Amino acid sequence: MEPLVACRAPVARLFAMDMLRDIDPATGELIAEIPVSSPDQVTAAVARARAAADEWGDVPFDVRAELLLRVAERFDERQDELAQLVTREMGKPFAEARRESSARSKELAGVIETARRALAVEDVSEGSSRTHVVRDPLGVVAAITPWNFPLAMPTSILLPALATGNTVVFKPSEHVPLCGAVLAEIIGGDLPDGVLELVQGAGETGAQLVDADVDMIGFVGSRATGQKIMRAAGGGLKRLVLELGGKDPLIVFADADLEAAAECAVTHSLRNAGQVCCSVERVFVEDSVREEFERLVLAKASKWTHGSGFEPESRMGPMVDDAQRQKVHAQVEDAVARGARLLLGGTLADGPGSFYPATVLADVPDSSVMATEETFGPVVSLSTFDGDEAEAVRLANATRYGLGANVYTGDGERGLRVARRIRSGQVGVNRYLAGSSRAPWVGARESGFGFLGGVEGYRQFTVPKSISIASGG
Ligand code: NAD
Repeated sequence: MEPLVACRAPVARLFAMDMLRDIDPATGELIAEIPVSSPDQVTAAVARARAAADEWGDVPFDVRAELLLRVAERFDERQDELAQLVTREMGKPFAEARRESSARSKELAGVIETARRALAVEDVSEGSSRTHVVRDPLGVVAAITPWNFPLAMPTSILLPALATGNTVVFKPSEHVPLCGAVLAEIIGGDLPDGVLELVQGAGETGAQLVDADVDMIGFVGSRATGQKIMRAAGGGLKRLVLELGGKDPLIVFADADLEAAAECAVTHSLRNAGQVCCSVERVFVEDSVREEFERLVLAKASKWTHGSGFEPESRMGPMVDDAQRQKVHAQVEDAVARGARLLLGGTLADGPGSFYPATVLADVPDSSVMATEETFGPVVSLSTFDGDEAEAVRLANATRYGLGANVYTGDGERGLRVARRIRSGQVGVNRYLAGSSRAPWVGARESGFGFLGGVEGYRQFTVPKSISIASGG
């Protein structure tokens, strides 16, 4: 592996006092030390974005689109470098990192098309005067993002914000600062000064950015941080889009294709070592097929080996850091202490790296932390229900979260009925949930506030304005 250069971000380099220690979670080795942006640097970055905002907002859409479409080529040129950085900084298997990086150039045409539709002028004329609704950019958007998809999460905010005419100050997660720096270089390459600014740091820097002179905060991260941001943004009545955590259920009725349901349960509990906002976190299996389902799940989950993301046979890399691994382990221990049966894994691996094995728990009690709080780790958490549809819905909804849900049943009508009654933003029926890229991505209940994606999501980066013109005017 080539030695990695320190962050090239101009803002962060100048006067920073503190350093972020960028650690490889598979080895514990230091990858780089990245200067943390000082409060003055955060203020200066926001001031540059503010100074550029009016002009960028006035650029004709086709010119903005042209500038942003050029980004696709740079993504393609640097997709290997980006994938290497993703695996190095947060640990996911290289093949998955490669999929994440190669998808970036492909999304640009859709971004431009969606922005074009979101910004289309609406004619709402009544009577003799003409009235049009136009959409203005909000101004300066703070983009604050997590580490679990170090490329896809930032682009889900940066691209719509820029395409709809806002300038952006971007703070990547402290776990993936080099991914963030390269992303900012790639996207910001051809843009006028101040249109995309980068600041580096952890929560304190994020909080400074929220308090700064920004008009909107586009945030993807945990519910706890989302709450803090909402409180802090209240003073200035700043616009918010918060995409937060989840505790997604998977309901398996006895008449379902159990093989397919078990595959969904295992893959989507363990993918990315469980560090996915819409992971399957609770599986409710009808009593009568419990034994068979456990057998299927165990057979599949035991094939999920872990190891460095650069080893092709690793299906899971490490957890992002030891704190995350300890949090998962504490939830497993709590569930077992309250009566859950440990069927696989559940032990802290020795040696360097923050690895946690594929873990399967059965009979996870409602009272356990694992049943209520986001786990964000490689655990298949099984419980049962008596087959009653209303009970399945009640269990699925027994959470404050509402991000995703999945239901498997041989009765398609029942699948749809249950999907309609689960209080979440996305539901998969006899398949894992996966929205169309044209649908909004929604965190219902405490999984979010506002949403990203689709025409409606893009419009959240704008404010509508009605212009009425006297007849003959
Ligand atoms: P986190 O909340 O700890 O951090 C997210 C970002 O917020 C980081 O950049 C962090 O530095 C910053 N931050 C921390 N404290 C802050 C503060 N007080 N003010 C402003 N910024 C602050 O989350 P994480 O551990 O990076 O990411 C994992 C979480 O993200 C999980 O809960 C996961 O479910 C969620 N997530 C949600 C989605 C979704 O689409 N709903 C997608 C991916 C991840």
